[in-house]
Amino acid sequence: AAPGAAPTANIPLVPGVRAIVAVASGKGGVGKSTTSVNLALALAAIGRKVGLLDADIYGPSLPRMMGISGKPGSPDGKTLTPMENYGVKCMSMGFMVAEDTPMIWRGPMVMSALEQMLRDVNWGDLDVLVVDMPPGTGDAQLTMAQRVPLAGAVIVSTPQDIALLDARKGLNMFRKVDVPVLGIIENMSYFVCPHCQGRSDIFSHGGARKEAERLGTDFLGEIPLDIQIRETSDSGKPLVVSAPNSPHALAYKAIAEAV
Ligand code: ADP
Repeated sequence: AAPGAAPTANIPLVPGVRAIVAVASGKGGVGKSTTSVNLALALAAIGRKVGLLDADIYGPSLPRMMGISGKPGSPDGKTLTPMENYGVKCMSMGFMVAEDTPMIWRGPMVMSALEQMLRDVNWGDLDVLVVDMPPGTGDAQLTMAQRVPLAGAVIVSTPQDIALLDARKGLNMFRKVDVPVLGIIENMSYFVCPHCQGRSDIFSHGGARKEAERLGTDFLGEIPLDIQIRETSDSGKPLVVSAPNSPHALAYKAIAEAV
């Protein structure tokens, strides 16, 4: 995160955590969680002390993507010890409930669960805590943006117009609550056929870069639609750790350097 970026005023800091960075998207399914996980691992790979908080209470995907199962312990009966894999400390509602159990909760319960996952966790000393935000710009997201001392937000979008429109709403939400927007990542940016090497711009291409220019924020990089990215995160060993020197893993690391 931009060093020294002012966290949102009047929100208590999380002790030991130097910067909290939200990864957000206007709509679901654009690859926000995949990007959060690989970005967190890329930050760890470039030498940062990293935590990852899955704030998607209704659809937690961190346990599976990070290959973590089991429940966090609480040695002192008050704070939770985060789960850890690949050198990243993790917390998710998915650790607390069975994978097929729906969270049938109203907003206030969601907010208190999020506060607990942020503040009642023994994160230790972290350079950056990446928060995988719930998709959209509803009440939970806004409250989250206002209650978490965010150093900045990264927006993930596909190049498709409808996704970019929603990404713009996400960006404007953060600006409204004075959270600096660090930039936009274009996910599913293009597709190269592994058989014929032909390229297809399935969701169009380059829209996020143009949108970033229009909105006066940085364009952080593009990640293609790629079967290895999907397979590695489904198998709990994301691309950045399973193929750390592959071109797309290096693209995540370049984004990590820019964040
Ligand atoms: P979101 O968090 O925005 O809902 P996810 O990260 O869960 O999105 O991604 C949605 C689906 O798309 C998942 O199946 C994921 O594996 C897949 N996916 C995301 N990004 C990519 C990518 N760059 N290449 C291939 N598959 C991807």
